[in-house]
Amino acid sequence: MCGILGIWGRDQVAAELMLGLATLQHRGQDAAGAITFDGSFHVKIGRGLVSEVFADKHQERLRGPWGLGHVRYATMGSTDVEDAQPVHVSYPYGLAMVHNGNVTNFDEVRESLYAEHHRLVSTSNDAALILYTFAAELEKCDLRSLSILDLFGCVEATQRAIAGAYSAVCLIAGRGLLAFADPHGIRPLVLGRRETEAGPEYAFASETTCLDFLGFEAVEEVGPGCAIFIDGQGEIHRHQGVRGRSAFCVFEFIYFAREDSVLRGRVVAEERERMGRALASPVAAAGTPPDVIIDVPASGYFFAVGLASACDAPFRRGLAKNHHIGRSFIQPTDEERRRSVRLKLNPIRGVVDGLRVAVVDDSIVRGVTSRRLVSLLRAAGAREVVMVSAAPPVRYPCPYGIDMSTRDEIIAARQSPDAVRRLIGADGLVYQPLESLQALYRDVGCCDACFSGEYPTGLDAEALTRIEREKDRSGRAG
Ligand code: SF4
Repeated sequence: MCGILGIWGRDQVAAELMLGLATLQHRGQDAAGAITFDGSFHVKIGRGLVSEVFADKHQERLRGPWGLGHVRYATMGSTDVEDAQPVHVSYPYGLAMVHNGNVTNFDEVRESLYAEHHRLVSTSNDAALILYTFAAELEKCDLRSLSILDLFGCVEATQRAIAGAYSAVCLIAGRGLLAFADPHGIRPLVLGRRETEAGPEYAFASETTCLDFLGFEAVEEVGPGCAIFIDGQGEIHRHQGVRGRSAFCVFEFIYFAREDSVLRGRVVAEERERMGRALASPVAAAGTPPDVIIDVPASGYFFAVGLASACDAPFRRGLAKNHHIGRSFIQPTDEERRRSVRLKLNPIRGVVDGLRVAVVDDSIVRGVTSRRLVSLLRAAGAREVVMVSAAPPVRYPCPYGIDMSTRDEIIAARQSPDAVRRLIGADGLVYQPLESLQALYRDVGCCDACFSGEYPTGLDAEALTRIEREKDRSGRAG
């Protein structure tokens, strides 16, 4: 998971790029970068948070009215700056790109780029691979008379060559901003527009929360296989490229996106409450009703509120959170995750003491947080602890840019729910039934492969094992 932003403005955009990236910080904390164009490219990339990478002086240096920004989250622990974004090339055209997702046929595309176009992709950076593929297609066009149809043709050829998940924004020097999505629309990307005295300005962002902050009104999402080009005069051109079945990542609704974002026309916070209400019947079926429902702050909050509204137990805040520690899910190693759980959450004794407590989290992946929480709640006097997961059991890794780890690390990959319950030490364990989740998102058309094993791009077991090995080696992510 990464966050991307592209701004087509009429004045300097550096400050807005930096501020906009800060609103996407939850999507990646390992590296940040920006590139602007004013006749030349100006780039700044670094490791760490947006506030650590950019300083006031970069507003001066990153000149130009068009720009791209990226916050990176590295899968499997790789935090190399060389794999950070944006990436850019100067041949056959000045092109810069940011993307969010993960390419699943990286080696195959890299080999064919070298064999057919003599282009050597020397990093393990997916954005470079997509950019080089696009550039190789562009090279086949007559650049003196390059048309918008030519550009869309290059997008289609890129979509045919690259497998996996990608939402990308490409800055084409002097020509405009081009956004496109993979044929299934797995990762989010939204176009926003705002009026200024000089005329309309545009932005593409991973989430509407970023557009809200920058004063852009969300206009439309870049759907499955779609391409949108904003030309040098600010005209919008749309094209339906290679299209497969819609498979928007359902985990965006569960965990990744910020609660104030609107994805596929749905407010994320409301979606989480809906999922929480859907948990009422499996919680009731699990036996004695809880005395109190608490959330794992902050990602469990809306689910817990939804659950409490649909059953007889009250919701109370039962865990105090240290807000100055990063999200435990995206810490690179298990040991760091364990340490960060301990630092981050502490039970509020008076809320849980002597009670049967249902503690609601967004999901259970490795079980590290759950195990630690159960033991902390018991130590704070809880009589019984029922762990409630708003997501179904995560059983399969995600090859589309989310660190679900390998199957060996996913606690429910080869264990029954009761075995997971024993492993985390809880008295009860309730998961969202997969059928309930699928019913909630049937009309959106979502990917739920990490629960169901049904990969929208049709990966088989052998391909998955290869991707897991590659992930271990390179830590690619966008
Ligand atoms: S496998 Fe899971 S996390 Fe990955 S894209 Fe699909 S739903 Fe999202």
